[in-house]
Formats: sequence, C-alpha cells, structure tokens
Amino acid sequence: WGRLLGVEQAVVESVCLDAGVVVVSVRPLRWARGRCGVCQRRCAGYDAGRGRRRWRSLDVGVWRVFLEADAPRVRCLVHGVVVASVPWARHGAGHTRQFDALVGWLVRRMSKTAVCHLVRVGWRTVGQIVARVVADADAAAGDRLAGVTRIGIDEVSYRRGHKYLTVVVDHDTRRLLWIAEGRDSATLSQFFELLGPDRCAKVSLVTADGAEWIFSAVSRYCPRARICLDPFHVVMWAGKALDAV
Ligand SMILES: [Zn+2]
Repeated sequence: WGRLLGVEQAVVESVCLDAGVVVVSVRPLRWARGRCGVCQRRCAGYDAGRGRRRWRSLDVGVWRVFLEADAPRVRCLVHGVVVASVPWARHGAGHTRQFDALVGWLVRRMSKTAVCHLVRVGWRTVGQIVARVVADADAAAGDRLAGVTRIGIDEVSYRRGHKYLTVVVDHDTRRLLWIAEGRDSATLSQFFELLGPDRCAKVSLVTADGAEWIFSAVSRYCPRARICLDPFHVVMWAGKALDAV
C-alpha cells in the first residue's frame, strides 16, 4: 500500500474501507517524527493535539483515499507550540503533497470547474492548493525579478471582457514575472516599483501592443528601454494609414 500510494518516509499500519472511502493509517518513520511543522527542526513533544487527522491522497481507481495519522503537537524554540510535521503533506494542509502537485498541474491545463469535478474537491480548495504550490515554487525559485532585462507586457480579460489583468513576462526565462488586477498606468507602475530603480535601469527591451498606458509607464520608469511593438498592431496601423491616403 505504501508503494501504491507513493507514501514515503512512513509506515502503513492498516487499510480499511470507511463510508465509501479508503482510509490508510500511517505513521512517519522514527527520524521524521517530532519535528516542527514550520521549520522541520527536531523539537520536544508537547501534547497529542486534536487526535487523529486525515489527509486526502491520490485516488485509487474510483475510490477516494485518505491517509490517517496522529497529529501531535511539539514545542519549537522558534515557532512555539505547533502541530508536528508529517512527511506526506505541507504544514496546515488537508491534502498530501502529491495531491497538491496533481491539482497544481491540472489548473495550468484546464478550467478550475473541470478540476473541481475531476478530483472531487471544492472550488475554494483548488485556490488554497494553488496558493500552497506556488508559494513553495516561489521559495525554490528564489528572486524571480533578479537579472530581468527583456520583458513583455500585455493584458488579459476575464469575466467576458469586463475585468482585466496586467501580465508581465520574462522573455529570457519564458516565465511569468508578475500579474495584477487592472490595466492602466497605475497598475503597471506597481510592477516597476517592485522592480526598483536599479533593476528598472537594466531593462533594455519591452515588448507590448500599442497601448498608451504601457508606453507612459515604461518611459517613466525605464527611460533606456527600447519598446518593441507587436506586428499585429503595426500592420493594422499601416493598413489604416494606406486607406487614408
Ligand atoms: Zn519551528
């Protein structure tokens, strides 16, 4: 069962079917026990916490699977009394790391509604999982804004064009750098404020459509950046100019 569920650093004690779900009782291996849930440091035990807890794991066939284990509390010198860490899940999460990873992968490829139905979790839960996965990815990636020189800026609409997000990408790493609600100069200014004057000065190229709000923010914060307009708008403007003459 341990191999089937991909449970590592833990011992499977028993498996039972309970009200339509598979409940797998586990306990962390000795060296993984008694550690702070926040910093993973080994700590003195405190109490039994609120007893047994369950974490949703990856499904087996059509069955939903839950890992069940004690959730004792420890006293960390830095973080105080906290629930002890478990090897299979993030601190404070009700889902295993593998379940989080699955949802994180799915939301990049399908709608949130589809993900809710497919993995049988609530709408809000998907958001909470995404927040956990992104926070860990951010921590692992370090400072995303370091070494940025060539960026792209655009807007995307949602709610059928009633609301907009401003999106900034890094052309060299091909990664999303920053995203925020709104599409105006003030919104984009938040990004350049975050980037700071030193890094703004190193921005050499900005791709964008012909929007005035992008142009004004870029020329204010990155005076040395060349602005590269997208071919679609350039061709459209040239077509209109030709029509006019
Ligand atoms: Zn700690």
